[in-house]
Amino acid sequence: TDLSHIRNFSIIAHIDHGKSTLADRLIQQTGGLTEREMTSQVLDNMEIEQERGITIKAQTVRLNYVANNGETYELNLMDTPGHVDFAYEVSRSLAACEGALLVVDAAQGVEAQTLANVYQSIEHDHEIVPVINKIDLPAADPERVRTEIEDIIGIDASEAVLTSAKSGIGIAETLEAIVAKIPPPKGDRDAPLKAMLVDSWYDPYLGVVILVRVIDGVLKKGLRVKFMQAGTEHLIDRVGCFRPKIEQLPELGPGEIGFITAQIKEVAQTAVGDTITTVVRPAAKALPGFKQVQPVVFCGMFPVDAADFEKLRESISRLRLNDASFSFEMETSAALGFGFRCGFLGLLHLEIIQERLTREYDLDLITTAPSVVYRIQLNKSRTDDAREIMLHNPADYPDPSRIASIEEPWIKAVIYTPDEYLGSILKLCQDRRGVQKDLTYVGGRAQVTYELPLNEVVFDFYDRLKSISRGYASFDYEQIGLREGDLVKMNILVNAEPVDALSMIVHRGVAEARGRHMCERLKDLIPRHLFKVPIQAAIGGKVIARETIAAMRKDVTAKCYGGDISRKKKLLDKQKKGKARMREYGSVSIPQEAFIAALRMG
Ligand code: GDP
Ligand code: MG
Repeated sequence: TDLSHIRNFSIIAHIDHGKSTLADRLIQQTGGLTEREMTSQVLDNMEIEQERGITIKAQTVRLNYVANNGETYELNLMDTPGHVDFAYEVSRSLAACEGALLVVDAAQGVEAQTLANVYQSIEHDHEIVPVINKIDLPAADPERVRTEIEDIIGIDASEAVLTSAKSGIGIAETLEAIVAKIPPPKGDRDAPLKAMLVDSWYDPYLGVVILVRVIDGVLKKGLRVKFMQAGTEHLIDRVGCFRPKIEQLPELGPGEIGFITAQIKEVAQTAVGDTITTVVRPAAKALPGFKQVQPVVFCGMFPVDAADFEKLRESISRLRLNDASFSFEMETSAALGFGFRCGFLGLLHLEIIQERLTREYDLDLITTAPSVVYRIQLNKSRTDDAREIMLHNPADYPDPSRIASIEEPWIKAVIYTPDEYLGSILKLCQDRRGVQKDLTYVGGRAQVTYELPLNEVVFDFYDRLKSISRGYASFDYEQIGLREGDLVKMNILVNAEPVDALSMIVHRGVAEARGRHMCERLKDLIPRHLFKVPIQAAIGGKVIARETIAAMRKDVTAKCYGGDISRKKKLLDKQKKGKARMREYGSVSIPQEAFIAALRMG
C-alpha cells in the first residue's frame, strides 16, 4: 500500500472506558467481524484478560476502510497492554504508531490512567484524537468531559468525536477522524530493511508469531533476516496480518504493521524492541529505545502437595514458553520443600501467572512473601573480598556484620483522586515511607505525586488505595532507581523455629509495627495445638513482637485427636484433600492461607 493511505494508531483509555468495545465496533464496521462475532470481545482473547478487563498481550488488527472521499485506507489498530507492569511493551507498541484515539468515558471523565497513557502517547509524538464514549449513559456529560480533556490534558477537544461504542453511535465519524487527523507513516522502500519487533507470542500451530512494524525496506517470505540485538539469524517463512483472522500476504512494506514467522520455538529468542534487518544488506544502526526487561518482584512458588513438584516444573516451563518476562529457578525451603523462585514485572504479572498455574494447570500453590531486589555492598571479610550482591530472596540475606550498605528500589507514583479521599490517601503514603513531591487540584480532584519504596507498594498498597477511596482513586508508577535504606531482615518464629517462607526485608522504622501485625495475624490463622505455640518476630536474635496461641482444652483434644491412630490418619488425609490445607512445620501445622494472609497489612 502506498504510504499516504496507511494509518497506524492505538487506543488509549482508562480501564472500562470502552477501549475494547470501540475496537470491536471499528472492526465490525469495516467488515472484519459479523454481529455474532462481536459478542465475544476479539481483542481480549485470553480468559483471564476478559475477567480482569485488561489486555496482557498487544494485538493488532488491519482494517480496510473506504473513506467518504472514495479512497481505500489501510488502518492498523494496535491494542496495547493496559497495566503499569507492562509499561515497556506499551512504549514499543506506541512507537509503532503515528497517532492514538483517546477514549474517555462521558460520565467518568479523565482518570489517572487516561493521563499516564496520554502523556506517553504525547512523548511518542502521536496525533491524539479525543473520543468521548458512553454518551448513551444517563449520567453522560460530554461537554464537561470535553472541558476536562482541554484543561487537564491540554489538547484541543473541540472536535472530539462523541460515541456510544455499545450502541454503535459515532463509529463512522471515528473512522473519518482517524483518516483526517492521524498522519500517514514515513518510510523508504529502497533503504535497507529496518523493522521493529513489537511483540511476540507462541502459537501451537505457527510457532512463535512476531508482530512487526516495518520502518524502511520490505519484509518477504524467504528472506534471511538478522535480529540486531539478539544477534541471531532466521529465515522468514510467513508474512501476514490479522483482520482479525490471520491472513498471509506477499510482503509488508514500509509503514506497515503485520506479523512474520520464522520457525522460532521460544519467545525468549524474540526481545520486544529488537530491530529486524536483512543479512545481505543490513541497516547501519539499530532502532533506538531498546531495553532488556528485568523482573522486579520475586516470590517463591511451592506445590501444596510435594508430589506435584514435577507438574509444577512442567507447567512453569510451559508458561515461560509464552512469556519471556518472567523468570524461575529452583529453590528449596525448610518449610515448604522444593519449589521455584520466580521473578515478575510487577504484582499483577505475579497474580496472572499464579492464577494461570492454579486454573489452567490445576495446581495448588503456596506463594511466599513477594520481595523486590536489593543491592547490598558487602565488606571484605577474612575469606571473602568486598563485593556487591543483588538479593531477591530474604533467605539469602548475608550475615549483617558483613553488610556495608543496602539499597532498595524506589518508584514515583501518581495518584489521582476525588478530593474527599485525599486525607486518607496521604496518610497511607506517609505510612509507607512516602515522600510527597507534588499536589495539585483540578476540578474537584487532586493529583498527588509521591516517591515511595517499591517494597512498601508490592504488598497491598493498591488494594488499600482502592478500598480507602471506594475504587475512585487511580494509581500509576514508574521506577526511579535505587536508594540506600536502613533495611533489616525480620524472621518469624513459630514455636521457636524460623519459618523461612515468612521472613522479609523491612525498614527498621516500621519493623516493630509490621512484626506485631504479622504475629497478630498468625495468631488468628494458625489453629490451636495440644501445646502452647509462641509466635515471634525477630531481627537477628532480638525479639520485637510476640503472641501466644493457647493450648487446646483437654476435652476438645480428646474429641479431635483421641485414641486410635487410623482415625487420626483419616483425619489428616481428609485435611490434606479438603480445603483446610496445612503445612507441617516442626510440630506445628500452618494453614496454606496463612502464608499470604499474614502479609496483608490491612
Ligand atoms: P476497556 O476496559 O476500556 O477495554 O472497556 P470495555 O470495552 O471492556 O468496556 C467496559 C464496559 O463498558 C463494558 O461493560 C462495556 O459493555 C461498557 N461500554 C463500552 N462502551 C460503552 C458505551 O458506549 N455505553 C455504555 N453504556 N457502556 C459501554
Ligand atoms: Mg479492554
